[in-house]
Amino acid sequence: MATVDPTPARAGDVAAKSGSLFDSAAYHRVRTLVLGALSVLAIAVLLMWPVITDYYSYNASYYNGLVASAAISAILTISLNLSMGYGGMLSMMHSGMQLAGGYAAGYLVVKVSGSWLLGIVASVAVGTLVAVLVLLVSLRATYLYFGMITLAANLIVIEVGREWESVTGGIVGVSGIAPKLGDDVMPKQFFYYVVLAFLVLVYVLQRNLVRSGVGRASMAVRESSDTASAMGISPARAKLLLFGISGGVAGLSGALYALQLGFINPDVGLLDNGIIFFVGLFLGGISTLIGPVIGVALIAILVELIKDQARYTTLVLGCLLLLAMMVIPRGVVGTWKASRVGRDKLSDPDDEALPDQVPDVVPEVRDVPAGVAALEGVGIVKHFGGVHALDGVDVRVMPGTVHGIIGPNGSGKSTLVSCLTRYHQIDKGQVLVFGEEAPAAPHRVAHAGVTRVFQVPHLFERVSVLDNVLTGMRMRETYSWSGALLRSPSYRRQDLQEREEARQLLGFAGLASRADWLASSLSHGQKRLLEVVRAVASRPKVLILDEPATGLTSSELDALARLCRVLRERGLAVVLIEHNVDFVMGLCDEITVLESGKVIERGSPERVRASAAVLEAYLGRPDLVEETS
Ligand code: ADP
Ligand code: MG
Repeated sequence: MATVDPTPARAGDVAAKSGSLFDSAAYHRVRTLVLGALSVLAIAVLLMWPVITDYYSYNASYYNGLVASAAISAILTISLNLSMGYGGMLSMMHSGMQLAGGYAAGYLVVKVSGSWLLGIVASVAVGTLVAVLVLLVSLRATYLYFGMITLAANLIVIEVGREWESVTGGIVGVSGIAPKLGDDVMPKQFFYYVVLAFLVLVYVLQRNLVRSGVGRASMAVRESSDTASAMGISPARAKLLLFGISGGVAGLSGALYALQLGFINPDVGLLDNGIIFFVGLFLGGISTLIGPVIGVALIAILVELIKDQARYTTLVLGCLLLLAMMVIPRGVVGTWKASRVGRDKLSDPDDEALPDQVPDVVPEVRDVPAGVAALEGVGIVKHFGGVHALDGVDVRVMPGTVHGIIGPNGSGKSTLVSCLTRYHQIDKGQVLVFGEEAPAAPHRVAHAGVTRVFQVPHLFERVSVLDNVLTGMRMRETYSWSGALLRSPSYRRQDLQEREEARQLLGFAGLASRADWLASSLSHGQKRLLEVVRAVASRPKVLILDEPATGLTSSELDALARLCRVLRERGLAVVLIEHNVDFVMGLCDEITVLESGKVIERGSPERVRASAAVLEAYLGRPDLVEETS
């Protein structure tokens, strides 16, 4: 999937050179201290700002308004970061959602109740509603089309604003939107703190979200919705949730905007006005937590510096966006975090020996009906145009067994897996999971207990190794999204357990010391093992591995075989698609042999080895005999 985000969620894509100054513990201590001190200073200045301006300036309310407006922009930029950065959804309607939120607040404050808090609640609701509606009509849209749809939605919101005069005040807009404190208008200094409080709240919500299973699910969908589905994540639900939250935050910023300036009109929704959020996001660093805030702060300072030439502001912002994209595509924060000076201190990535034991974190599969196949395909037919990829294939995989599927290249093995897990619609036949018709969507099949590992590596490369494994646990998480946002006790308990378990599982792949590294930093074999570990983390009852052994070293092969045996002991059904015949023969209880979309043999390894049909299928292709010997 195309995304605009080159920024890692964690640092660590540059190999550490231990021994250098920037990797020393002392340097990291000093850096933490300096950054901490700067943060405290920044927070102190923000808190004291009304007092400072009052003391030093004849124009205090102007400078208060400046920072309050920047904080409101930062809130909207965080919202944009959620959808574009963490969700990979190109949104051109954020200024429109802000406008909609502003209208909601304006209408409530001026025409209904006068309560600014109610106005804020309404704006969050309206922002969420607009986002959810737009997402529902564009669930299947690709990256660019989604961008176009949101662009259209933005125009519609503005047009509705212009025409629906009784609510929006038409072209003129709504004015006199003043927050009240008791019977009086709230002093600007007080409202300044209201804005600041909301910025902190939104920042914390963003952080909580991104660090939870809910955020990991969104990032997984951003990376690959197919893989996310294999982890039991519903791409539609994940997008809806994230974009809905993003819309709510955008609506909130609209309310604050209207309350701060006292008016709202259709011009607020124009893309011209929206550009500042894009510049802020890219300048500060997309997919970083603090990037949006820093980006907006830099812009606010710049705009203030050139305010005498205000008519050039848009031009300057446009050039700045261009420059940021070209020179520091990761933004200030992303560039800092990826640099030698700014990256996190990560454990030494020394290659660990693969342990002889599989960690004891895979529970026994219980409560499965006796004598019933864990996974069964009956008469499966799948044609791609003229290609008969599968022609009436039957396959029965029993619990507590390792079931091999072998066959020459192009014989239909991967297609069979995709049919069994509902990635492909089948032309004819039936798929049963523990005797029941398999659900129609891939993520539901995962929930029914069937997890697959793809033939081509499908890691989430831009998140950490640990986060990859944690994403595999998404299905098992029972906390709600609101629990994740607010870090409820149940969330914290589960999160702790999951991290502990994930580290144990990583130990199996010799990756414990790599937990915080980006997945993209791993070797090919490590990546393949990590994928298997991630699938195991979802606690499947049926685990389908599509050529997992390709490119593994012999010790990695041993580790994989050990894991498969342990999974079998614990009652799982393991489906192993493999080219390496020796590997398959040594491990499998039963083997199904495919050739040109048909089953040519099935049974024990001995039977398959002796089968004339199999010999012919392989002997007819000397290249494969070579490869498998
Ligand atoms: P295997 O995994 O055994 O190597 P595949 O299942 O990948 O084989 O492919 C079986 C046949 O189906 C091949 O001829 C392949 O070209 C064809 N095929 C697989 N996927 C598609 C697809 N998405 N579109 C068209 N043809 C496909
Ligand atoms: Mg294949």
